[in-house]
Amino acid sequence: MRLLVAEDEPRMAELLRRGLREEGYSVDIATSGTDALWLGKEVDYDAIVLDVMLPGLDGFEVCRQFRQHERWAPVIMLTARGDVADRVRGLDAGADDYLAKPFSLVELSARLRALIRRGAVARPVVLQVGALRLDPRTRQVSRAGQPVSLSATEFSLLELFMRHPGEVLTRSRILEHVWDFGYEAASNVVDQYVGYLRRKIDRPFGRADLETVRGAGYRLRPEAGQEAAGDAPPAHRGARGGKG
Ligand code: CA
Repeated sequence: MRLLVAEDEPRMAELLRRGLREEGYSVDIATSGTDALWLGKEVDYDAIVLDVMLPGLDGFEVCRQFRQHERWAPVIMLTARGDVADRVRGLDAGADDYLAKPFSLVELSARLRALIRRGAVARPVVLQVGALRLDPRTRQVSRAGQPVSLSATEFSLLELFMRHPGEVLTRSRILEHVWDFGYEAASNVVDQYVGYLRRKIDRPFGRADLETVRGAGYRLRPEAGQEAAGDAPPAHRGARGGKG
């Protein structure tokens, strides 16, 4: 999941960047309202954190303009403590939530999860595709009841696939959602990580659900029902399976 954080105070921006990256997000920082507006219109963020006091355009104006340009990423505004007028203005400008400074990173993170979960379409708290299960809150992944251990990037990649089961995701779309601008993307980084993921979520289970779609990208195939969550570990189950 990729976030935009608009904050002009360097120390605060760095704190947010580091904290949110530790939570597994890709984070881009904008240090003015104008930059935030430009980035938010260019990149399909999963959520946006907007400080109210920004040089250039303030947070309210940035948010208003996102909505005017039909950018619907969930927005959380950072307001001054106890300033009811700011909160009301933020919500009226199209923000989805607000948080008063100073706040804890834990709370910001929880609110971001809630906003991303809500998205435009109702989404379940725990993602489930066939026997694959991913919990964004606890950051736990399992297949058929067996825990699978993933790196932060692998987790983020799997979450993206699981939010779009059966859909072909292009390499550029995957890059945009899983890696941020801070990363100098090698051209094959997506293929490389899809490979890592296959070694963890498919091969040990005798599956090949993470498909290459030649010339297009990758797709997580929603598997046909014979393998249910919570099944006994599929120790000797072959790829043929399918007795349904
Ligand atoms: Ca500020």
